[in-house]
Amino acid sequence: MAIYLCHEQPDLYVHEASVLAARPGAVVLSRSAFHPGGGGQVSDIGEIEWSGGCAAVTGIEVDGDQWWHLLDTDAVPSGDVELRVDADHRLRVASLHTTSHVLNAFVFAEFAGALVTGAQINGDGTGRMDFDLPEVDNDRVRALEAPVKEVIARGVDVNAIYVDAGDAATAEGLVRSMSVAPPPTPDGKLRIIDIEGVDRQACGGTHLANTGQSRPIVITKVENKGRHNRRVRFAFAN
Ligand SMILES: [Zn+2]
Repeated sequence: MAIYLCHEQPDLYVHEASVLAARPGAVVLSRSAFHPGGGGQVSDIGEIEWSGGCAAVTGIEVDGDQWWHLLDTDAVPSGDVELRVDADHRLRVASLHTTSHVLNAFVFAEFAGALVTGAQINGDGTGRMDFDLPEVDNDRVRALEAPVKEVIARGVDVNAIYVDAGDAATAEGLVRSMSVAPPPTPDGKLRIIDIEGVDRQACGGTHLANTGQSRPIVITKVENKGRHNRRVRFAFAN
């Protein structure tokens, strides 16, 4: 799957599909608006309904080109199904993920090109980013909460665009993560998330269409993780 359906149609939450493969408690579908997770971001969750029943989809297990939708039962769905993405979960994850780009941008600017060494976006309204920041006062990192909050409150448009992967590799700061670079599409394009005037970077995750869609977010903790790493934890303010 080169370009995810959830990238092409970010507002598609309910759709029909047919079962391509099944085992007890897991199913591969002809199409899926679920995001499979990756790069530290949890997958979408939701529901699946078929003629024989209904089950919660608790996550996605990626096996090559196959996305196994994991169920909360040992049922073996077959035939045509209706797939439903949990919109609240999607919004929580997309909010935290979009905020992580904003935080990343301010860290990158404040600390002269500091790179991300890891990230985790959870379904419970919390997330963290690790930065390569040797010998930096943690209070300076904590102080970035104010400009991050300002961008969320201001309501800045967020667009996904596709650029030539060769060009992106030469553009400073565009492919910023040290550990997770999203794969280009088969025709050599890289998906760029552009938060207007704030940040541009390659990413395959789920994001808001506007930063104002997020609830307020606060930095809850800045920790030292090894000599080079600073771990910044963040969460919804309430
Ligand atoms: Zn992203």
